[in-house]
Amino acid sequence: MSVVGIDFGNLQSVIAVARNRGIDVICNEVSNRFTPSLVSFGVKQRYLGETAKTQEISNFKNTVSSLKRIVGRTFADKEVQEIETQYLTAPLVDVNGQLAVKVNYQGQETTFTTVQVFAMYLTKMKEIASVETKLPVSDCVIAIPAWFTDVQRRAVLDASEIAGLNVLRLINDSTAVALGYGITKTDLPEDKPRNVCFVDVGHSTYTVQVVSFIKGQLTVKSRAFDRHFGGRDFDRMLVDHFAAQFKTKYGIDVKSNGKAMIRLMAGCEKLKKVLSANAEAPLNIESIMEDRDVSSMMKRAEFEELAKELLSRTDAPLKKALEDANLTLEDIDSVEIVGGSTRIPALKERIQAFFGKDVSSTLNQDEAVARGAALQCAILSPSFKVRDFTVQDITNYPIKMIWQPTPEEDETELVVFNKNNSIPSTKVLTFYRSEPFDLEAQYAEPAEVPSGINPWIGRFSIKKVEPVNGEPACVKVKARVNIHGVLTVESAYVVEEVIKEELIEETAAVDAENPDAPLTRKVKKLVKKGDLPVVSATSALDRAIINTLREKEMEMIASDKLVVDTEMAQNALEEYIYDTRSKVNGGAYKDYINPADKEKFVEDLNNAENWLYDEGDEATKSVYNSKLAELQVVGTPVIQRYREAEARPNAARELRETI
Ligand code: ATP
Ligand code: MG
Repeated sequence: MSVVGIDFGNLQSVIAVARNRGIDVICNEVSNRFTPSLVSFGVKQRYLGETAKTQEISNFKNTVSSLKRIVGRTFADKEVQEIETQYLTAPLVDVNGQLAVKVNYQGQETTFTTVQVFAMYLTKMKEIASVETKLPVSDCVIAIPAWFTDVQRRAVLDASEIAGLNVLRLINDSTAVALGYGITKTDLPEDKPRNVCFVDVGHSTYTVQVVSFIKGQLTVKSRAFDRHFGGRDFDRMLVDHFAAQFKTKYGIDVKSNGKAMIRLMAGCEKLKKVLSANAEAPLNIESIMEDRDVSSMMKRAEFEELAKELLSRTDAPLKKALEDANLTLEDIDSVEIVGGSTRIPALKERIQAFFGKDVSSTLNQDEAVARGAALQCAILSPSFKVRDFTVQDITNYPIKMIWQPTPEEDETELVVFNKNNSIPSTKVLTFYRSEPFDLEAQYAEPAEVPSGINPWIGRFSIKKVEPVNGEPACVKVKARVNIHGVLTVESAYVVEEVIKEELIEETAAVDAENPDAPLTRKVKKLVKKGDLPVVSATSALDRAIINTLREKEMEMIASDKLVVDTEMAQNALEEYIYDTRSKVNGGAYKDYINPADKEKFVEDLNNAENWLYDEGDEATKSVYNSKLAELQVVGTPVIQRYREAEARPNAARELRETI
């Protein structure tokens, strides 16, 4: 079984596997170390990752991007409507309150929820990993942004189940980076911690995390974000600039044309990257729209001027993270930067200027998250031995519990997990109740969670509560933020007070005046009296629905495979026809078939070719295979005779040599 870490990026995802000699990033089917985070739907099949990218322009309405930004969100979500729709090319719809995409799949208008689409993408990740490692893949660790809320985390877990993955941990992406950093450093201090600030600017998100390290352990101190700051914002800024320029220069409105927008977006991303290493960069796009070619250029200084406002947002998360960690600039021992967008020189300079020192990039900027996730998977996997390293992560948003009070109670809610509470973490709540009751979990500071995401987390019903000896029962409820950062109510139980005899401590027991005094005393103790059923209603999908969706996914996997197999069978037949015909007609096989048979065979081959380009173009795999088998009835003996004859001189030579 492979031990896999997945960095689920907004633009591209990276897969790493733990092997005995270390962590390897693995390549996909076209030997790339990262795979576009895209899912696209076609007339016959789905296209996942690289193949979706190749089709992006021609099939943009059926191509789903920004998976990370839409999974677990709702249609009504303002951020989805106002921001994400700017980057998405497939139409979004609402399906029973869930966000979904409307695409044309196998010739039919179909809707898939974002959880389903994400599951499809994970199917691809799983396939890439198992092809490369030649082992089945199930256990994995998936890296997600730390700002993901309960709904988003549960959505990722649901999607993983649909894809048949067993997630050992959802790890916050910057924590994965920190783990990769910590485990390789052999010089970590024993006592006074080393404070490192990790800065990740990717395609859509900017995260700052302060982590303190001692030997064998990392503790996340604080983190801060700008959730809408990344490479795509710079691209968008360039798109706006050039779209306006092309309107006056060429009289074309790029923004009115979906395909033209994708071409311009790609052109701008390229220009931005060139500018990271050069003082100026060209922009040339052939037939962007209406058969027009466009060209332009930009100097780095101009780029920086345009990006002034964006760049001015660099400092805020850095400041916030330091403040929340209660540390000053001097307390930070080093600054590590990762993420593709930190290659923008002006951005890197700003980060450097903030800290007043050079930032280091000892980590692989593009692969650090995936490597850390694979390490975490190896640590958690029973099938792997790794040096112990403790990861102390923290929650992001405070969580409160709300309840209906009894007449004796004043309180109706309590913040159970504060911001920056360590995870995983369990808290026990006490209630005095005579009948079943409900608890509702919510984010306590709705303004902190991404706007548009409901702060509601779940309702937990504690069943079968009854009075004990005519009095309200003392009920203990165990709430837990688990290893994925997801809130659960694990169990509830009744405790009763019982009188127990306890040994009195020895010094007190020796009573000189009363040597016969008892050596024990009676004390009141709380004893667990039995579990209570808990019914949880959260945003997670019901088991039955997950099972149905898993079946659907398997059907789609089978259907995609059939399409590929059919194409292979068709190609095999075509190749056989060409190859055999040319070899029979004067090539290598010509002396091994008698003339009468040859004529008939060539005619059969010609007929098969005509059929292939006519009605045989859309045949099934088994029809192609049986056509091939028919031809092979005549062809195989010919090929065999040829091969035997070819082998004969060699055999004779070999014989000579052995004598
Ligand atoms: P996120 O972490 O936001 O989900 P991601 O992990 O997919 O996204 P990365 O792979 O870290 O993002 O970075 C991709 C971004 O980095 C893209 O916007 C890309 O254009 C940008 N980028 C890559 N190389 C360069 C470069 N040389 N100069 C400027 N930007 C670059
Ligand atoms: Mg990233």
